[in-house]
Amino acid sequence: MSDRVLLITGSGRGIGAATARMAAAEGYRVAVNYLSNSAAADLLVGDIRKAGGNATAIKADVANETEIAGLFDSVTQELGPLTHLVNNAGIVGRAGKLADADPKMIREVIELNTLSVILVAREAVRRMSKSRGGQGGGIVNISSIAANTGSPGEYTWYAASKGAIESFTVGLAKEVAADGIRVNCVSPGIVETEIHASGGQPDRLARIGSQSPIPRPGKPEEIASAILWLLSDAASYATGSILRVTGGR
Ligand code: NAP
Repeated sequence: MSDRVLLITGSGRGIGAATARMAAAEGYRVAVNYLSNSAAADLLVGDIRKAGGNATAIKADVANETEIAGLFDSVTQELGPLTHLVNNAGIVGRAGKLADADPKMIREVIELNTLSVILVAREAVRRMSKSRGGQGGGIVNISSIAANTGSPGEYTWYAASKGAIESFTVGLAKEVAADGIRVNCVSPGIVETEIHASGGQPDRLARIGSQSPIPRPGKPEEIASAILWLLSDAASYATGSILRVTGGR
């Protein structure tokens, strides 16, 4: 595939941003979707362009069904037909025990981490499926090791939202294989991004990172390289895979 167009949801910062940089360096045309931090997304796109890459920043709330369709239309208009998707946008909510958790917060986490991932993938397969006139391609959904640990006392709702994504990956991979689309999942361990501070636990990185068999948090680039391998032709026989990149947790 010579003209590879990659949409990464939630990629103004963190793991998505590292993936955008690496993908652009490998020749993908990259759509950097973000929610509200336009400064971070614009800085990233500026860096990519300075390095000779092709990227565009697109603001859209992927938890909003109407904005999802608009996001995909913008990608096609600005970069060409979509060939690859990283379903990355995610939030943890406020750390704590379930009994004390705000139902509105739980709903927001499930709606973004699970429902929006499914709806974004739906829009992608409608455009990428060979039987519908697309070119085929690749999707990587971003789960979390929380799907396996359950995240007790911290983020049980988040763990559940990510477990659902792993089941979804397995089913969708089987459903769209004949349409030329591979669907895989990367499950990161603890990674150096601002997501932990957003959950009210800025010390979480050092605390959990040091308990991993590889005794440190991962870097966003260490997750990005796994994502890009799964998107690439080097992974041409991989579909329905859940790749854990967790420092051994
Ligand atoms: P992050 O640093 O907090 O960045 C989140 C990004 O998502 C930001 O660019 C944000 O946009 C965007 N975003 C949030 N809500 C959105 C929405 N409704 N629509 C569109 N974009 C939205 O997060 P991260 O740590 O890189 O996490 C990325 C993914 O990896 C998530 O799915 C997360 O669950 C998963 N993960 C992370 C870790 C970890 O330790 N970091 C571990 C396991 C799994 P703005 O910049 O505009 O705010």
